[in-house]
Amino acid sequence: MATEKEIVVSGIRSTGFLHLGNYFGAIRNYVRMQDEFNCYFFIADWHSLTTHPDPKDLAGNVLRMVAENVAAGLDPEKVALFAQSDVPEIAELYMLLNTLAYKGELEKVPTFKEKVRLNPDNVNAGLLTYPVLMASDILVHRATKVPVGKDQEQHLEMARNFAHRFNTRYGADFFPGPQAFNYGDNLVRIPSLDGAGKMSKSENQMATLYLADDDDLIRKKVMKAKSDSAAGGEMPESVANLFQLMSLVGHAATVAKFREDFNAGTIRYGDMKKQLAEDMVAFIGPIREKTLELQKDKVYLNKIMRAGAEKARASASATLVEVRKLIGINYY
Ligand code: ATP
Ligand code: MG
Repeated sequence: MATEKEIVVSGIRSTGFLHLGNYFGAIRNYVRMQDEFNCYFFIADWHSLTTHPDPKDLAGNVLRMVAENVAAGLDPEKVALFAQSDVPEIAELYMLLNTLAYKGELEKVPTFKEKVRLNPDNVNAGLLTYPVLMASDILVHRATKVPVGKDQEQHLEMARNFAHRFNTRYGADFFPGPQAFNYGDNLVRIPSLDGAGKMSKSENQMATLYLADDDDLIRKKVMKAKSDSAAGGEMPESVANLFQLMSLVGHAATVAKFREDFNAGTIRYGDMKKQLAEDMVAFIGPIREKTLELQKDKVYLNKIMRAGAEKARASASATLVEVRKLIGINYY
C-alpha cells in the first residue's frame, strides 16, 4: 500500500539576495527533502512587506530568488515552488488564526523586539503578527516538517501553539504540530563574517556572503573576516566561525590540517582565510553562474511559479474547506 508522503513547507522572504545562511539553514535541506517528501517551498513576498515595501524591488527579487533556488539544486518538477501571494487561502487562515494569537505573546517575540529596536518608526501590525502569518503558511498545507535555520526556532514553537489552540477550541485533531527540521542534529546558524549577528539578506551586507557575489568580492569579504591572534588553547568564537564555514564548503583534509595547526599554536589566519576564500569561490561560483543563466528565461521562471501556485492552492483550499466547517462557516 502506498503511504502518504509527509508534508514539508518552508519560505524565504523576498528582501534581497540569497546568502550562505539561507543555503545551509534552509535550501540545502530543501534539496535533500525533495525526493522523500511532499514539498511546498515559497518566496515570502507578503512577509517582505513588513520591512521592505518598495514596489520597484519586489518582482525582481521574487524572480531572482526562484532562479537562485533552482540554481542551488531545487527541482521544480519535484516540488511546488511559488509566491506566497499566489495563495490567497494563506491570508484567510492568517485572519482566522489572528483570533487565537495574543497581543502579549506576540510582543514578547525576540525577533519582533529586534525589529522594533532597529526600526522604531515602522512598528506595523504586520510585523507584530508575523508569526501568525508564518503559522498560516505552514498550517495551510497541514505540514509536519519545516526546514529552517536556528533563527526560526521560536516562530515554529508559536506555530505549534496556534495549531494546538485551534484544535482545542474547535474540538478536532486537525492541525499537526509542525517541527523545525534539519538533516543532522541541530538547526544551523551561519554567523556573519564580522561575528556580529547572523548572515542576513537585509542587514550586515559586507559581512554576509551572497550566492550572487563575484569571485573578487567573495575574496575581499573573507579576507576581512574577523579572526584572532590566538592559537592553541580554547578556540575563540571568531575562529570557530571560520572553521564552521570551512567545514561546510572545504575539504575535510584541509580543515583537519588547519585544526592541527591551531592546536599546535602555529596557525596563520591569513593562510586559513586565503584557503577559505578559494573554497567559497569554488562553492558559490557555479550557483551564481547558473542563476544568471536562468534569469535570462523569464518565461521559464514564470512557468515554474504558476505550476507551483496551482499545486499549493489545491492543497490550501482543501484545508480551508475543513477549517471553515470546523469554525461553523457552513451556511449553504
Ligand atoms: P531578512 O534579513 O530579510 O530577514 P534572512 O536572511 O533572515 O533575511 P529569511 O528570509 O528571514 O532570511 O529566512 C529564510 C530562511 O533562511 C529561514 O529558514 C531562516 O532560518 C534561514 N536563515 C536566514 N539566515 C540564516 C543564517 N544566518 N543561518 C542559517 N539559516 C538562516
Ligand atoms: Mg530573517
